[in-house]
Amino acid sequence: MTLAERLADVDARIADAARSAGRDPAGITRIVVTKFHPLSLIEQLHALGVGDVGENRQQELTAKRAAQAEAPHEDLSLRWHFIGQAQTKKARAIRSAADVVHSIDRDRIADALDRAAEPGDAPLDVLLQLNLTDDPDRGGIALDGLLPLAEHVVAACPTLRLRGIMAVAPLDEPPASAFARLADASARLRTIVPDAEWISAGMSGDFTEAIAAGATHLRIGSAITGARPVRD
Ligand SMILES: *Cc1c(COP(=O)(O)O)cnc(C)c1O
Repeated sequence: MTLAERLADVDARIADAARSAGRDPAGITRIVVTKFHPLSLIEQLHALGVGDVGENRQQELTAKRAAQAEAPHEDLSLRWHFIGQAQTKKARAIRSAADVVHSIDRDRIADALDRAAEPGDAPLDVLLQLNLTDDPDRGGIALDGLLPLAEHVVAACPTLRLRGIMAVAPLDEPPASAFARLADASARLRTIVPDAEWISAGMSGDFTEAIAAGATHLRIGSAITGARPVRD
């Protein structure tokens, strides 16, 4: 299959899953995860109508966005989603390259991104990453820390706009049950931040389950891009 065919195939599966769940496909944002791929792939995706791309490493995000801003690419209108582990010392670089940060998992990274705002910057859309496993190394905040973190972002980070919650399904559990816990956590989050409605969940292997559980933002890589190049 060509890139265009893979994209169309995934979009058809998204639309089917949305209809099966009684949802409007227009309420679902499909982010194409382009990590490890060259900017030329992003240009091809843009020509196919893709508006949202995801990257998980700050250096790669910064480099691609800078290259894209140069002629002849400057008129690409794209939203860049940062979906990787965020380091506080990279907060300024992340803030200047990302339109949305999905991976807020501790007060310190929220504070660092907030302090990285330049005068006149628009608020930065952020999501809290929830760890759906018991393994603290997997990234994300444990469920019992979620609401305190949300309260911190709302009270102490005026340049961040808390939009919702993000998670990666565990490897050792059916995605539907993990995403059900994510949906519960989203409902809890909305008791204190009513408009934090986004649920970022679903990758190539589990996006239909994520849609059934209410995901609003899908992060789909290899099903659209093909296999990722090996990283050097
Ligand atoms: C790489 C990545 C994805 C996309 O994974 P695929 O299985 O290629 O769809 C989604 N979310 C995160 C956080 C990722 O790092």
